[in-house]
Amino acid sequence: MAGSKTSSRTVRSVAEPARRVPVCGAYDVVVVGGGIGGVAAAVAAARNGASVCLLEKENALGGLATLANVIVYLPLCDGMGHQVIGGLGEELLKLSVKDLRGPNKTMRLQPIPECWLPGGDPQQRLTKRYDTWFNPGGYMLDMEALIVAEGVTLYYDTRFCAVTRKANRIVSVIVENKSGRSAILCKTVVDSSGDADVCAVAGEATESLDTNVRSGWFYYLKNNRVHLKELTKWYDKYCGRHPDGGIFYAGDKADDVTAQTLGTRAMQREFIAELRRQNPTEEIYPLILTLIPGFRMTRRLRGAVELEEADERRWFDDTVGMTGDWRAKGPVYYLPLRCLAGVVNANLVTAGRCISSGRTSWDMARVIPTCAVTGEAAGTAAAMAAARTAGRIGALNIADLQAQLRRQNVIIDRSFAKERG
Ligand SMILES: Cc1cc2nc3c(=O)[nH]c(=O)nc-3n(C[C@H](O)[C@H](O)[C@H](O)COP(=O)(O)OP(=O)(O)OC[C@H]3O[C@@H](n4cnc5c(N)ncnc54)[C@H](O)[C@@H]3O)c2cc1C
Repeated sequence: MAGSKTSSRTVRSVAEPARRVPVCGAYDVVVVGGGIGGVAAAVAAARNGASVCLLEKENALGGLATLANVIVYLPLCDGMGHQVIGGLGEELLKLSVKDLRGPNKTMRLQPIPECWLPGGDPQQRLTKRYDTWFNPGGYMLDMEALIVAEGVTLYYDTRFCAVTRKANRIVSVIVENKSGRSAILCKTVVDSSGDADVCAVAGEATESLDTNVRSGWFYYLKNNRVHLKELTKWYDKYCGRHPDGGIFYAGDKADDVTAQTLGTRAMQREFIAELRRQNPTEEIYPLILTLIPGFRMTRRLRGAVELEEADERRWFDDTVGMTGDWRAKGPVYYLPLRCLAGVVNANLVTAGRCISSGRTSWDMARVIPTCAVTGEAAGTAAAMAAARTAGRIGALNIADLQAQLRRQNVIIDRSFAKERG
């Protein structure tokens, strides 16, 4: 063992032998990552007639929303009574609470607020936002059924590793799974990995942010009732002082992933131990832990446009969706295609929390409803590009794309803009 320690210190790298890998499929659109962004992208692409393959390294869909038990589908409205997200953003919200019979206090379940149901009271919409709190197990099952029903080819337990490129295009993605390493040919690629994994290896400029903290929402049993604990060590907003002098994690490095996971599990053990100390006669057990690390912002694309908070109510001619701001009532943002599209790779588009948004607006754009909006836009653009522009996202006719998105009930409404058209 001493010898292997010495060699691992002195040998800095090894040459991996070059090899040919088998091609295991060819698709119009390959979607990398099956979180909310990826699910929306895959469904949208399939509905637009594309052959679609969805790659997910875990064995369930939903990403942070389900595997990290982040169960709050934040608002589809602007906080002033106006719905600004429709399309798949709304369809996936409805799916999230499809089976809910009513609220559940300890599991924190909450169906669609009555005022947001058809014919609901517009006055109440001023005070109650259009959001839900869902059950991650049911949501996982329902999203999987949706993906299968839409005819998407789903690969679980399959990690995206690399790309092959020709000129300025990705021609295949390289994956690893139980069958070993293989290639999937593609006309377009959607990076919905949350961590911009495709962008990073395909030569796009990216930005990483080391503001992540220990965070792990989890379920526990207390006297035969299931409870959700939203456990997070909070930090001062945007890179400020850590409350307990602990460390930040960027989340795009192997060491960070393990360290954050171990730190979070320690926090969960402490929480359960303290609860047992306070309630010595009660039965208290951890139940469903966080299965992927609770990183909020890791790595993202640096696109041709980086959405900023100053862009509030700024109309972009290539708007492909809209969002409110979960943190405040009032703000509305237009989401341009240029925040999603790769710069170096003509046939790459991002979706979800790794789109091109500036440091402060990232915190607004990373949430579930906005990920669904960018997912639907990315999937629709990818399918249209595969059919019409040899995969080139930038060559799409924007008016056609917007018209198609509107047909899908995506809200693109210029009347919210500061300067109206
Ligand atoms: C603690 C915490 C609390 C939050 N609270 C809320 C909240 O209350 N409400 C809200 O709306 N949002 C909340 N968020 C944010 C929100 O959950 C996420 O930002 C959003 O769900 C991200 O969706 P996504 O699809 O972009 O990415 P992810 O959910 O990260 O999904 C990415 C998927 O890609 C897969 N993947 C990654 N790399 C690879 C690879 N190389 N190969 C194959 N698959 C890969 C992952 O396994 C994952 O399934 C919270 C986040 C955290 C961490």
